[in-house]
Amino acid sequence: MIIIFFGAPGVGKGTQAALFAERMGYGHLSTGEALRNAIAAQTDIGKLAKQIVDEGKLVSDEIVTKIVEETLVLPKFQAGTILDGYPRTLGQAEALENILAAKGQKVAVVVNITVNQETLVQRLLARGRKDDNETTIRERFAVYEKETAPLLDFYAKTPNLIKTIDGEAEVEEVYKRVKAAVEAR
Ligand code: AMP
Repeated sequence: MIIIFFGAPGVGKGTQAALFAERMGYGHLSTGEALRNAIAAQTDIGKLAKQIVDEGKLVSDEIVTKIVEETLVLPKFQAGTILDGYPRTLGQAEALENILAAKGQKVAVVVNITVNQETLVQRLLARGRKDDNETTIRERFAVYEKETAPLLDFYAKTPNLIKTIDGEAEVEEVYKRVKAAVEAR
């Protein structure tokens, strides 16, 4: 089963994706995390991505899709796959369709988590990651609105694929909502 965790920066999708994957025994791929690891390890991808991530811009579709292809074949991902922060552009969504189609698979559900704007900013500032300064946060919201939010129209073409969850609650409460949404697919 392929599940996409979707939402604006700071919405809690990383927290929920990690929790869901751990409890279900599924593989969890956060492309942001993969990029941060590559940057820390100073790999070729890390060197290419560093400045882009620091500025809150998007790394190229080719680079992130390569990470996705390499990860989806890992044994853990055969039971189930949680995608967190991917796809973020229409190009990535189409690339994902192709990767999955080659294996006879499809996205099973898009968990779209929403919270109000004020909560988003507060959560990001509280998190204190290197790319969580005010300038970068503003850029990441702008990129989300322009490049990523339109993916909801892309996935809405498949009836009932998108499950929208109110993420304005404690972690365990949001988790219950996520689980119920996935089970209702
Ligand atoms: P995240 O951990 O999902 O907030 O991602 C942190 C940063 O990594 C983003 O601001 C982008 O610079 C980069 N990134 C993560 N996922 C992607 C993606 N799917 N496409 C392009 N850039 C990405």
